[in-house]
Amino acid sequence: MKISVLKRIIIYCKPYNRFFVLAMISAMIQISLTLYGPILIGQAVDAMIAYHNVDYISIIKTLCFLSATIVGAMIFQWIMTYCIHKLTYCTTQDVRVAVYRKINHMPLKYLDSHAHGDLISRIVNDTDQVADGILQGFTQFFTGIVTIVGTIMFMLSVSPFITLLVVFITPLSLFVAAFLAKLSHKMFVKQQLIQGQLSGYIEELIGNQKVVKVFCYEKRAFQKFEILNEELRICGQKAQFYSALANPSTRFVNGIVYAAVAVIGSVCAITGSPVSLTIGGITSFLTYANQYTKPFNEVTGVITQIQTAFASAQRLFHVLDQQAEPLDAPDAITMTGCKGQVSIEHLYFSYRPEMRLIEDFNLQVNPGDRIAIVGPTGSGKSTLINLLMRFYDASEGRISIDGIPITQITRNSLRNQFGMVLQDTWLHHGTIRDNIAYGKSGAKDEEIVTAAKSAFAHDFIMQQPNGYDTVISENGGNLSQGQKQLLCIARVMLVCPPMLILDEATSSIDTRTELKVQAAFQNLMKGRTSFIVAHRLSTIQNATTILVMENGKVIEQGNHEVLLARNGFYAKLYQSQFANM
Ligand code: ATP
Ligand code: MG
Repeated sequence: MKISVLKRIIIYCKPYNRFFVLAMISAMIQISLTLYGPILIGQAVDAMIAYHNVDYISIIKTLCFLSATIVGAMIFQWIMTYCIHKLTYCTTQDVRVAVYRKINHMPLKYLDSHAHGDLISRIVNDTDQVADGILQGFTQFFTGIVTIVGTIMFMLSVSPFITLLVVFITPLSLFVAAFLAKLSHKMFVKQQLIQGQLSGYIEELIGNQKVVKVFCYEKRAFQKFEILNEELRICGQKAQFYSALANPSTRFVNGIVYAAVAVIGSVCAITGSPVSLTIGGITSFLTYANQYTKPFNEVTGVITQIQTAFASAQRLFHVLDQQAEPLDAPDAITMTGCKGQVSIEHLYFSYRPEMRLIEDFNLQVNPGDRIAIVGPTGSGKSTLINLLMRFYDASEGRISIDGIPITQITRNSLRNQFGMVLQDTWLHHGTIRDNIAYGKSGAKDEEIVTAAKSAFAHDFIMQQPNGYDTVISENGGNLSQGQKQLLCIARVMLVCPPMLILDEATSSIDTRTELKVQAAFQNLMKGRTSFIVAHRLSTIQNATTILVMENGKVIEQGNHEVLLARNGFYAKLYQSQFANM
């Protein structure tokens, strides 16, 4: 599992291979230069042969050489750091792009059923963790290992006997570290999971503050938040505690190694057995003993960080592994300016196999027709629209536009044929101008104003503090519901699509705005095939065809007069809702 995660990270690093190679070379040179230092120091010590017997010339030479190695090591370390940062941040940028793209091509089914905050947390936090992992993995883990190997080689060149001593005691610290790393890894995985849950929860709360306040849910919301927060604290604390234990434990083992080298080295130097060693040799060795164990600390120190990175990478790859919307058929055509003839034949669809919804649905729509869809809540009105737009694909039957099955049309061009104004208006943070121009990049100012005028939005826009340049908050928090809808209508007006999908607002808006919205809708529908999830009597009465839906089926179909005459479901609905108006 982990290997494949590592492999996939490496694949993402591939375009930046050259930085990796350069970093490796620089690291090797830097480490070799650093490791050569103790040998030089040992030589300098040995040049002080006895009291009043010092070989100054060779000491000065050695010291010059030592300075050069230190400066060289510094330069190469700088190059290594630069390369590795470049590699890390370019790679994580790519990963972020990949996840973002993936989310854009994700079937709505996935997005509808996953907490959005969790996805956000994956893109923002988890990529950061992966970046940290790569960075630490290289700067500490890789250089640590190379230092260990290098030190062993240099030590062997001084005294194989004492080298063996060092090499045999040190693995102890590895065992200790591995044990603690295992404990903390579990906690790190859990920590990421809860972090995602917490982000999801908070995102939901912030988005729905009004609802929270209306139902006085603050207290209960806080309780749930506290539970998650407490769990997060426990996980984080345990994870950090175990990983923090690793360092002192390995340090303790290192202390023993250092003492052993000092004692045994001195015995060798004084007695010449079991091997002979100079004072300079001991000096070199003590430095090596220190340098040899330090990377163990670093390696064990970053193991947890690398583990967190793996956990995060797993969560990212999980998103990347979701099946994307199936690609457009290879021979799919790009539709432009359709006439607006729609036919639906024997359509079957359900969100979940065990819950049947739309069954054997049939409908013929001529260009310019207005189809009003009415029916109780949950009857499948929005579902029908999801199918028309190919947000979901039907399991059987087919929908065609101008005689072409929609599966044979590229999704983008299909969706371009429709203008959509929904109940829950969607506006983004930006100026009113940008919001209207959302569907048409590079729209001219006059076009935007014309669209706003025909949507009856121009007047209220001009009353805003900065007119078209007024910045509206995310989801238009500073506009009324009716105004938001007018902006959405203007947005569609600007694009001029041949067909429309409208979901009339049920929320009551003030009568004047309501009249404007209605007039704007009328303007919009002129000459366009329109599907309207209808709540207004006028829309329903003026429709070419009224579809009365119940439990995913069309139970009645016809115009207002015909359906009233039938005296069925529609007639009852009409009498209960509209007759007294
Ligand atoms: P309303 O008037 O309340 O908007 P509707 O007629 O638009 O209702 P739909 O949204 O089409 O109703 O829902 C039809 C059925 O499908 C409902 O029973 C609903 O629970 C179910 N449903 C809707 N969306 C999903 C989804 N994403 N996943 C699973 N089931 C869903
Ligand atoms: Mg609906």
